[in-house]
Amino acid sequence: MGETWHCKEIADNIKRQIINSGVKKSLLIITVGDDPASKVYVKGKLKDCEEVGFLHRHVKLNNNSTTKDIINAINDSTEDGIIVQLPLPEHIDKQAVISSIPTEKDVDGFSISNVGSMVLGKQCLLPCTPAGVVEILDYHNVDIEGKDICVIGRSNIVGKPLTNMLINRGATVTICNSKTKNLEQKTKLADIIISAVGKANLVTPDMIKPDSILIDVGINRDSEGKICGDISPDCDKIAYARTPVPGGVGLMTRAMLLNNLRYC
Ligand code: NAP
Repeated sequence: MGETWHCKEIADNIKRQIINSGVKKSLLIITVGDDPASKVYVKGKLKDCEEVGFLHRHVKLNNNSTTKDIINAINDSTEDGIIVQLPLPEHIDKQAVISSIPTEKDVDGFSISNVGSMVLGKQCLLPCTPAGVVEILDYHNVDIEGKDICVIGRSNIVGKPLTNMLINRGATVTICNSKTKNLEQKTKLADIIISAVGKANLVTPDMIKPDSILIDVGINRDSEGKICGDISPDCDKIAYARTPVPGGVGLMTRAMLLNNLRYC
């Protein structure tokens, strides 16, 4: 039976290190409109800041706000780090908004400049979820170099940056998407499978090789309405280890955000 890699301890270690360092930082979060999921995420981020003693401010703009209004709020900020909570309403020029966040305050690591540095393997603010995934592998002393890794999902916030970070560490990465043919042929060859899709039971025991490591980024609801990932827990019979949902990558994303803010 494979191990379940609960991530609370890793996330708590990161928070403890921040508290012990005595570093004091401040975060501005800008929301536009009232997306219900964003409300939950923002509440969590503000609570995390309080836990480590970081100051925070939440600017709530209404749904009719313009791209210029958001950029003005960014320009008015004196905080060390800035997050513009996504998704933004359709009429907003998302790239213009993200580009107006100064590179050194871009806690999410989404700006073109940070993304470029990340691809080149240079020091920068790394996007939190991919950074959290790499942190989990490092914590468990998994040697990324030379591993065959299958990343499922190619989004700008998870799959693409994660693939680049793993390539920079010497992994051989296969990155899959909704058009990929014979997904199971790719996953079956992988030492490590990382699923970031948003489909419950996408990865099943017949798709993995014995002793593989499974990292589950997905967040879904099962038929009973309970939160679950993309990877079936039945895979535990075959895998070496799996990160649970909840209690896995999500906790790491939150911790890595604080870690980024620490260096802003
Ligand atoms: P997204 O932008 O919707 O991207 C999903 C990706 O999955 C796309 O690249 C899509 O391919 C691919 N895909 C869809 N169906 C597929 C299939 N059957 N086989 C292979 N690939 C398939 O989502 P996201 O923002 O990256 O998030 C992905 C999941 O991770 C969601 O459940 C989200 O809630 C979760 N998430 C969790 C955290 C965390 O902290 N734990 C953070 C971020 C996201 P195409 O590009 O071809 O459409």
